Amino acid sequence: MPDSPSVDPQDIAPAVTNLETIVSLSKRRGFVFPSSEIYGGINAVWDYGPLGVELKNNVKRAWWRTMVQLRDDIVGLDAGILMAPQVWVTSGHVASFSDPLVECQTDHRRFRVDELPGAEDLSPSELMDPGVVQRLGLTCPVDGGPLSAPRRFNLMFKTYMGPVEEDAALVYLRPETAQGIYVNFRNVRETARKKIPFGIAQIGKAFRNEISPGNFVFRMREFEQMEMQYFVRPEAAAGQFEEWLPRRLEWYETYGVIPARLRTREHRPDELAHYAKKAVDLEYRFPFGWKELEGVHNRGDWDLGRHQEASGENLEYFDPATNEHFIPWIVETSAGADRAAFTFLIDAYREEEVRGETRVSLALHPELAPYKVAVLPLLKKRPEIVELCHRIKDDLKRDMTAVYDDTAAIGKLYRRQDEIGTPWCVTVDVESLEDGAVTLRERDTMTQERIPVEGVKRAILDRLDAARP
Ligand code: ATP
Repeated sequence: MPDSPSVDPQDIAPAVTNLETIVSLSKRRGFVFPSSEIYGGINAVWDYGPLGVELKNNVKRAWWRTMVQLRDDIVGLDAGILMAPQVWVTSGHVASFSDPLVECQTDHRRFRVDELPGAEDLSPSELMDPGVVQRLGLTCPVDGGPLSAPRRFNLMFKTYMGPVEEDAALVYLRPETAQGIYVNFRNVRETARKKIPFGIAQIGKAFRNEISPGNFVFRMREFEQMEMQYFVRPEAAAGQFEEWLPRRLEWYETYGVIPARLRTREHRPDELAHYAKKAVDLEYRFPFGWKELEGVHNRGDWDLGRHQEASGENLEYFDPATNEHFIPWIVETSAGADRAAFTFLIDAYREEEVRGETRVSLALHPELAPYKVAVLPLLKKRPEIVELCHRIKDDLKRDMTAVYDDTAAIGKLYRRQDEIGTPWCVTVDVESLEDGAVTLRERDTMTQERIPVEGVKRAILDRLDAARP
């Protein structure tokens, strides 16, 4: 079932009205495919095609650059997906990482209560109220059948480690990357010799057995997170939270999302997770309503405090300046790599009339574009032209993603590159063979400029550099 739209008539319009436009572009051009499609697919798992993997890698690289490379106070980590099962008991996930769901008595489909029409704005306690179905007259959105009272459903995937499938061998696929950071807090602090405030960043897969996945790659059962945990003195946490929130909003804007389609939403006290002191969602205006893109959370000392207590290991920080021992507080920024890539894709989508035809383009930030440049021959029948194209493309490839295409006439080749967001095209024509110059075309303005062959790479590298935040 799709996430319920919460559309206000005064609201800003989404970049794309119909999600299907993006789904079909993604399939047609090789951004995203349904997983295991030849076997009929598997619900809520998606595979990234040749262009999708470039886009998503670029999104992850852009995040890493901002969060790790350009900062002196944040270091990276890549922890395992499988962890000691006790981690998930201590973190509270075994007991409470669950959604309230109801089951249809006739078709036995299960639904998240807060995604049923009429139940979107209920508080967590109302969602678990045994009388909620009757009180609101909720019915199955598929066949209208009667629904059971809500009950809790744990979202963690389980598997077994080792040769015997028994309870003692039970392990979980991590539902978030954050715990890998907490259990490595001491290792990282000691080896990286970091003083508070400092952060640990990680990108990696997470798994959630979502009850109502949907809206394409918005809600998946296997996805990737980009999380950063910032360790601070307790009294500094509130201030650090206020600094991280605008910084994270700005990141999406820097990489091209229109500010009016971003907003923040603070969690109500009864909505806060058990660990959170304060939580604000960064939301984007998706075609199906305002939805969470990233969460910024003040987690207090809950995580390190709990892990210290349960493991018996000392996870305190010693501050030599004040001679104090204390458990650091944590400000977390938690984003989804898939959701971010999806957002950049939607927000970049443009349709315009050009000489009586609809031109579709993706105005992706050059750093995010799957291909930076396409090298195109005006006449593919002239071997010298084709050869020069390959020479230029091979040289460009050493520094950036570059492709050659000669499978259509030039107008069509440009349209194809526009549709996948390639910021620059280089065209070689008959004159190029005589004057040693080629045409450099810009995606967004469609302006063309004649430049010498030897200057092509420098011209594109300069443009890339100028666009880089
Ligand atoms: P939601 O309310 O949408 O279920 P959440 O509040 O459970 O999300 P968090 O646990 O805060 O999400 O996860 C942090 C980020 O991870 C989210 O902002 C989102 O970008 C991403 N994320 C979470 N669940 C999924 C999912 N099922 N598919 C894709 N991305 C996800």
